Amino acid sequence: MDKPFPTVRAMVEALQPSYPVYCLRPHVLRATAQRFLDLFPGRVLFAVKCNPHPAVLQALYDTGIRHFDTASLPEIALIRERFPDAGAYFMHPVKGRAVIRTAARVYGIDTFIVDHEDELAKVLDETGGGEGLTIVVRLETPPVEGTFYHLAAKFGAKPEAAAQLLREARSRGCQLGLAFHVGSQCLVTGAYGQALKIVGDVLESAQTPIQVLDIGGGFPAQYLGTNAPPLEDYVAEIEAGVKALKLRRDCILMCEPGRALVADGVSLIVQVQLRKNGQLYINDGIYGSLSEMVTAKLRLPARLVRLNGEPAKRTKAFVLNGPTCDSLDVLPAPFHLPKDVREGDWIEIGRVGAYSHANSTNFNGMRPETWVTVEDSPLGLV
Ligand SMILES: *Cc1c(COP(=O)(O)O)cnc(C)c1O
Repeated sequence: MDKPFPTVRAMVEALQPSYPVYCLRPHVLRATAQRFLDLFPGRVLFAVKCNPHPAVLQALYDTGIRHFDTASLPEIALIRERFPDAGAYFMHPVKGRAVIRTAARVYGIDTFIVDHEDELAKVLDETGGGEGLTIVVRLETPPVEGTFYHLAAKFGAKPEAAAQLLREARSRGCQLGLAFHVGSQCLVTGAYGQALKIVGDVLESAQTPIQVLDIGGGFPAQYLGTNAPPLEDYVAEIEAGVKALKLRRDCILMCEPGRALVADGVSLIVQVQLRKNGQLYINDGIYGSLSEMVTAKLRLPARLVRLNGEPAKRTKAFVLNGPTCDSLDVLPAPFHLPKDVREGDWIEIGRVGAYSHANSTNFNGMRPETWVTVEDSPLGLV
């Protein structure tokens, strides 16, 4: 990326973009990551899938994030090549054999997650097992009211099976760990305590110490109307739950935040291409950067950017239509914008750092690909 723009407005003046533009704010990414590092009493892994843009990874690394949750060979390669001194962990419970072999032999990955005996057998087969290998068993956790994605619905072992996996990995001389993921944008701090109780049950049944406890991601970002508890409350819940487990002093506590580290560090500039009364047609939508407005029911802050003249003070609720030919490509929540929005205006949509570009498709040949850096303050939530 080239030189940073002092403000979003300066970027719009310079580029007058007819295509969507992601505006990255490294100073915001650094401040958010620093807060997480200051508060979390353990190792902080960034979940790469959430936003693997090199400038995002760099801002996190510059702040002191030295560990990454990776789930594929391309993610592992990305981290190994950019940050040879950083830790990468294979946190996907289902992996191809050649992928396991390559991760271990080419990239030196030594921590693998599993949730089934056949997967454990595969990892042991392909790596040879032994004390250089850490097997982390992913637990199933109950669905939580107040998370938008129930990630445990697809992955995770039940307590008895998890205990058996730990015993099996121990018998092969491996280091051991337990992990869970309460689900993304988890608004209920108690979900972590509940999951940690299950960890306690498994430890009691397995009768073996663990070297790693990974409490996953799921920490929420603030969107319009979200009202997420502060990170301090999550940390207090986790600290209490971990204390009750009476783990060995050398057990490493880890977390894998994605969204909470990056959501507020990126905004999106779109252009209005047509107005029909209360409907605006813009150049990004649910097949592009904004799928989470549907899947997670997110509501995002927005403001108008107009180069010639002042927009009206009065606002009005507009329906925003995405650019693809699919009539489903409509943003589900209205946006409040000056009532005289017109063709050629730009809209800055805030808090799209997480699961935006990462989830976008090339449907109709319209994948947004332009990133710039800006130095101004991000959009607030009012
Ligand atoms: C997606 C994912 C994360 C990150 O989740 P967030 O909700 O973005 O914090 C962490 N760990 C695992 C295993 C995941 O699948």
